[in-house]
Amino acid sequence: MRRALLLIEHTRNRELLHDWLVALDDDLAPAEEGAVSADLVVADVAGFRRARGRLRELRAREAPAHVPLLLVVPDEQAARVRNEVWQYADDVVTAPVRQGELRLRLERLLAQRARSQAAAHRLSELDRSNTDLQQFAYAAAHELANPLTAVAGAIDTVLGRDRLAAASLELLETAQKQARRMQTLIADLLAFSKVGVNAKPRAVDLDSLIRDARDALAVQIEEAGAVVEVGPCPVVVAAEPQLRLVLSNLVGNALKYGRPGVPPRIRIDCEERERDWLVSVADNGRGIAPDEVDNIFDMFSRAASGDGHGIGLALCRRAIERQGGSIWVEPNEEHGSVFRFSLPKR
Ligand code: ADP
Repeated sequence: MRRALLLIEHTRNRELLHDWLVALDDDLAPAEEGAVSADLVVADVAGFRRARGRLRELRAREAPAHVPLLLVVPDEQAARVRNEVWQYADDVVTAPVRQGELRLRLERLLAQRARSQAAAHRLSELDRSNTDLQQFAYAAAHELANPLTAVAGAIDTVLGRDRLAAASLELLETAQKQARRMQTLIADLLAFSKVGVNAKPRAVDLDSLIRDARDALAVQIEEAGAVVEVGPCPVVVAAEPQLRLVLSNLVGNALKYGRPGVPPRIRIDCEERERDWLVSVADNGRGIAPDEVDNIFDMFSRAASGDGHGIGLALCRRAIERQGGSIWVEPNEEHGSVFRFSLPKR
């Protein structure tokens, strides 16, 4: 049974509407005056003004499902109703109200209510399964990390202590390498499961964030003989840890996926657009085949030849989408690629 809350100051109208609602539809009844929940609200302007706070509370409690408001306005007042009232109303009916018209409008609003409830339900299911997945990934990675640390430690100890036959040595070194690889994979998975958790947006100076990323990669930059150039960059409002992850991944990749014998040249630029900032990280590396530009952001999508895990760009996409932006890659003019991401201005 659905309930309609009547906020009608005009006594005669309130009684009439109440009786109509009782008679109108078996599935809809008037809510008690003090009801804390309702599926829709029917109000005249005075009733709305008196109970605006209550309507707001009701809607906040039901959000993201919507509680529609049908406003009843005397014909001669319709032109004088202010925007502050209109903006709350989902529909307006002019009084004197005809029963048939009221029924049509109520049916339409109830359908709207049902659609919004279904959408809210899907949203909460999605939220729940997202949280479950996140917790699962975190727990699985966490539980794997401890035994693996023990395995890696044991291998290190044997390698360090015993004089081993060449064949055993080779096998153990392979095991050591694979254990290290698995450790970084688990660390990446943990980072992925944590992206977006508890990271509040705040003012972030992109310039200093890029400087940090450069410092953190100083050894790799030096080893590759790379040049990193940075254009002027703004202060943006975003979750800092996530932006940090994105920048260090993109710069790290630009260093990793260069061309043999060609020192990497990396250029970071920021461009202001009407609604967002566009940040680009361009390199002169091996580039990305046109049929791969869409799927390299998928989890575990990686170069067959590389020794990465294919998580970095999935992490970047998740982090940027959490900021309300998007990320993509384009070919650079002659060689290499340009990774771009947008960050909405807030
Ligand atoms: P990983 O580097 O661990 O493989 P990523 O998700 O960071 O995982 O990258 C996925 C794949 O995208 C890489 O394996 C590589 O093939 C490709 N890639 C990423 N960045 C670049 C780049 N700057 N230039 C060329 N290829 C790249």
